[in-house]
Amino acid sequence: MRTDTHYHIDQAQQPLNVLRRAEQAGVRLVAPSLHPASYRAILRLQQQSRAIRWVTAGLHPEHQPRQTDVREALQQAAVADGIGEVGLPCYNRPPNMRDYAVFRAFCELAAATDKPLIVHAVRQQAAAALALLQQAGVRRAVFHWLKADRETVDAIVRQGYCISVTPEVTFMERDRQLVQWVPVQQLLVETDGPYPLRGPYAGREPQPAWVEDAARVVATEYGMSVHAFWLEHERTLHRLFHPQP
Ligand SMILES: [Zn+2]
Repeated sequence: MRTDTHYHIDQAQQPLNVLRRAEQAGVRLVAPSLHPASYRAILRLQQQSRAIRWVTAGLHPEHQPRQTDVREALQQAAVADGIGEVGLPCYNRPPNMRDYAVFRAFCELAAATDKPLIVHAVRQQAAAALALLQQAGVRRAVFHWLKADRETVDAIVRQGYCISVTPEVTFMERDRQLVQWVPVQQLLVETDGPYPLRGPYAGREPQPAWVEDAARVVATEYGMSVHAFWLEHERTLHRLFHPQP
């Protein structure tokens, strides 16, 4: 089973088209929500396609959330397969006190409900996010499409959390370096579609099947076959979404 562990399916121009192509390619996806309406849209799509494997509910940190959205997203997250996308803003603006409070609330919910947390926290926010997860006692998490220094990556790995890379690992030396710092048991692949990727992927809407490109490069880094990597990836996903009691 091959899985794109992060695809914003409700944001695709033609979601059903993307899902049909994923089904044909034998790839399923984890679909994180951006906000309450996004979560509802993903659940509707899940009714129409088996390609959506798990749906997580969150509030994307790069946007300034409304208080009513915070409340509703927390309610959705309490019953979803997992929690996310949540985290700390980095690209659009620096985090403020409210961002920390909202993220802390989702971390505490993940710890209380024992659900996996899909985290958006890159560069200088990664260490701050890790500290919040540790304080809340979050047991399972993914630092999605991480960009961080060695020290922070080592700390995330020591805590047992996962890290994901996209097909940009095929040409970005930084991402390849990251893979070398992470054990295969904690490495996931994703596209972060439908948001555009760079390099040879520029100008096209990402498809979940593109994770195969990332898997090929990652498998080579670990000195294993692509098939063996996908088996390991599947075990990692099961630990994440179906923990042993
Ligand atoms: Zn995302």
